[in-house]
Amino acid sequence: MAIILDGKKLRDKILEDLKQKVEKFQVKPSLVVILVGEDPASQIYVNNKKKIAQQIGINSQVINYPENTTEETVLNKIKELNENKNVTAILVQLPLPNHISKEKVINTISPQKDVDGFTPYNFGKLFSGEKPIVYPCTPKGILLLLDEYGIELEGKHAVVVGRSNIVGRPVAQMLLDRNATVTMCHSYTKNLEQIIKTADVVVSAVGKNIIKGEMLKSDCVVIDVGIFKDSNGKTRGDVDFESSSKIASYISPVPGGIGPMTIASLMLNTVELFEKSL
Ligand code: NAP
Repeated sequence: MAIILDGKKLRDKILEDLKQKVEKFQVKPSLVVILVGEDPASQIYVNNKKKIAQQIGINSQVINYPENTTEETVLNKIKELNENKNVTAILVQLPLPNHISKEKVINTISPQKDVDGFTPYNFGKLFSGEKPIVYPCTPKGILLLLDEYGIELEGKHAVVVGRSNIVGRPVAQMLLDRNATVTMCHSYTKNLEQIIKTADVVVSAVGKNIIKGEMLKSDCVVIDVGIFKDSNGKTRGDVDFESSSKIASYISPVPGGIGPMTIASLMLNTVELFEKSL
């Protein structure tokens, strides 16, 4: 049976260490989260981020605009927060309503306050093989979890399924930077099953149950990023846990794997940006 990559346990350790660190700061880091609209899932995510930030001593504020807020209002608020010395980290919760350009919004955040690591400056650094100011949260969480369990990446074949800007692309780059040989797959990939069969490390960020045990190579490492509700309302990942945990050597569960690591990384990034601002 595969060893479970326990994201909750590592998250708790990271948050406890951060709490002790933040206690020693005279001025506290400050995270502002902008949410546009009333999407219930986004509201849960945002409130959770605020609650955890407060638990470790980070000042956290949520600015919740109604759905019909103009793009200009949001851009002006970001510019104001960029100038505000008391704010050290800015996060805009995605997705945004259709009438607001995600690109314009992200491009307006100061790279020094870009806690998600999504601005063109930070992305450009990452994809040119340099260090960004901070790394995107979910990929960073994945790498931290792999490191915690001593999983070697050098020379390994890593297959990343999904090519979003928040997970697939940056995690592929970060695995490449660790000297893995990386294959990226997406909805147009032919022979996905054959490719996955050759993977030493599989990272799946799709949002559909696409990976089953019989597709995996023996003793591979499986990172399941996907989270969605099935028709019975049960939280699921991309990977069929039961069959896959019999074949893999390590596997991250859903829930309790990459989700908690994403929030831990967000808090790490908030503190890193604060320290860099001093
Ligand atoms: P996304 O923007 O939803 O895109 C999904 C990706 O999967 C796309 O690249 C798509 O390919 C690919 N795809 C779709 N069907 C496929 C198939 N049958 N075979 C291979 N690839 C396929 O991705 P995301 O935002 O990264 O989210 C992915 C999942 O991760 C979601 O369930 C999301 O909730 C979850 N997530 C979890 C966390 C966490 O903290 N645990 C963080 C972020 C996301 P194309 O590009 O060709 O369309």
